[in-house]
Amino acid sequence: MTLKRMDNVLIVVDVQNDFCPDGALAVPSGDEVVPIVNRLGENFRNVVLTQDWHPVGHLSFASAHPGRAPYDTIAMSYGPQVLWPDHCVQGTPGAAFHDGLHIPQAGLVVRKGLDPAIDSYSALYENDRTTPTGLTGYLRERGIKRLFLAGLALDFCVRYSAEDAIREGFAVVVIEDACRGIDIDGSMAATHQSLKSLGISIVNIEAFL
Ligand SMILES: [Zn+2]
Repeated sequence: MTLKRMDNVLIVVDVQNDFCPDGALAVPSGDEVVPIVNRLGENFRNVVLTQDWHPVGHLSFASAHPGRAPYDTIAMSYGPQVLWPDHCVQGTPGAAFHDGLHIPQAGLVVRKGLDPAIDSYSALYENDRTTPTGLTGYLRERGIKRLFLAGLALDFCVRYSAEDAIREGFAVVVIEDACRGIDIDGSMAATHQSLKSLGISIVNIEAFL
């Protein structure tokens, strides 16, 4: 497969300090994806980085809901929402990309989770699944047909991005060993089941590099 073809894009999801060990919402071994993602990046002309980017007091934070603890699930107007520790607050070191991330040709950074009242796991839609981030339009205008997804966390932001992308008519490949997951209440198993049922390819980097 010629990964450098112009209708392919690598989407690097949320490789940010708060999702790495010692971060506010650490994904176990999250930093292990950094060298793998960098190696992937060398093989794509089109790269998009996403960045979780919340205002202070975001409604996805448990601290915004008195009596609730991180990892509780509550009902929001748009459906169930896991509550998280405060993380990726706009302009803080935790919201910055991991220092080791090096894909200088990345053409776009999509910031998401900006609305104080709606979380956004997916790079394409907020968690109400109707408010677009604008990424779909960007990809269409650029003639992109196939998305390769890597990053954090596999069972939340990578999963939701993959699901939205295939619904939008793109071909989608999740590079599993370039992702790490959180695994809350069976979320990793649910992710594998969902991706397979939607026809999303799940591969390892060795399959094509
Ligand atoms: Zn977030």
